[in-house]
Amino acid sequence: MTQITNHLPTAELQALDAAHHMHPFSTQAGFETRGARVITRAKGVFLTDSEGEEILDAMAGLWCVNIGYGRDELADVAARQMRELPYYNTFFQTTHVPAIALSAKLVEIAPDGFSHVFYGSSGSEANDTNIRLVRHYWATKGQPDKNIIISRKNAYHGSTMGGGSLGGMSGMHAQGGMPIPNIHHIGQPNWYAEGGDMTPAEFGLMRARELEQAIEQLGADRVAAFIAEPVQGAGGVIVAPDTYWPEIQRICDAHDILLIADEVICGFGRTGQWFGSQTLNIRPDIMTMAKGLSSGYAPIAGSMISAEVAQVVGQTEFNHGYTYHAHPVAAAVALENIRILEEEKIIQRVHDDIGPYLQGKWRALADHPLVGEAQIVGMMGSIALTPDKSRRAPFAAEAGTAGYITREISFANNLVMRHVGDRMIISPPLTITHAEVDLLIERATKTLDQALAKIKSEGLLVAG
Ligand SMILES: *Cc1c(COP(=O)(O)O)cnc(C)c1O
Repeated sequence: MTQITNHLPTAELQALDAAHHMHPFSTQAGFETRGARVITRAKGVFLTDSEGEEILDAMAGLWCVNIGYGRDELADVAARQMRELPYYNTFFQTTHVPAIALSAKLVEIAPDGFSHVFYGSSGSEANDTNIRLVRHYWATKGQPDKNIIISRKNAYHGSTMGGGSLGGMSGMHAQGGMPIPNIHHIGQPNWYAEGGDMTPAEFGLMRARELEQAIEQLGADRVAAFIAEPVQGAGGVIVAPDTYWPEIQRICDAHDILLIADEVICGFGRTGQWFGSQTLNIRPDIMTMAKGLSSGYAPIAGSMISAEVAQVVGQTEFNHGYTYHAHPVAAAVALENIRILEEEKIIQRVHDDIGPYLQGKWRALADHPLVGEAQIVGMMGSIALTPDKSRRAPFAAEAGTAGYITREISFANNLVMRHVGDRMIISPPLTITHAEVDLLIERATKTLDQALAKIKSEGLLVAG
């Protein structure tokens, strides 16, 4: 049997890693001088590294390990499925049981009005599918020019050409020729950073109405869809003001624009309901799913499609599909993950118990002198670092300097907390216990104290 060795010395693993493994969203050259931390095992909410350190993973990997690490049931289901039918496709008038069972289950847990699921292996692929799906939908209805998709600056929708183009990350658009044509970006509902003197309610309405202005400018007969995350994740866990989503829904309805909710992070319990669309009371036509769909145990993603869209698109051949569409092993793992979420009432617990517990403790971090605001929905939270909390001031230093310092201190304190610019974010496994939340907050507070001291001593506690 191939042996994947955990027992090489850490330095040797790090040297091989730097020499041969190109890391995503990283500067490769840096790994030669400073090796990556080697993660060898995980259980519950804790990672173990090659030096035996236990790290509290407050990011659930990349927002995906919703049921926590180390669930044998998923490993057993995967092994069983691999023995029975490791692979088959559903392209040419064939199907298989995991694809059938998962599709039926997903439609059952989805809000009313959805009928079909189209699969991929990643959120990026599912969003690429969505681009083709909404354009094909309007073309089938005789409106091939209704093909522009409106998205938002600082949105994250993946890293393929399609996903990266839908996303609004300027650093990504600066490389590789993105965005592709006919993607249009409007402002994000980030009141803290961009709201100025407006109230959050005024600002939320203003940003929603940018969608209407864009539609009027481009022509409703040119706009196919609007895509957004119910709560922006990778952009910094940004929760829109309460006025935002009702207005977005009104505008999509009024102008006959399809609404795509990118539920890759918000889905599968993260916000305290199955989908973020339910928490925010929106009625999307398409939902992108990935990450929590399998709790990260297997690569699987999908587009949940409304009966109306599925009926139109289903009239002709949709010339699109991936080899690993509804991969049987991944589909079986996703089904088992959903069974666990249901039977252990994990989402209800987020809604009624551990969610409110974490929210109270997280919001209290806003009292820290380095913190300008704390936001949290369900089990995804953010804090904005500031040199002057009285006026939501940004740092004079380049954005992300304070955030990076804080992340490094957090990691050294054995807490995985990410930074996006100068916002610190968390998205822990939904199964985290009360005591583990206490430990998370204890380590986060210690991290903020140490970060404040370091930022001050480096002369960076200066408003821009
Ligand atoms: C992670 C993410 C994606 C991309 O998913 P991948 O599996 O990394 O391709 C898309 N949308 C959102 C909201 C995400 O957070």
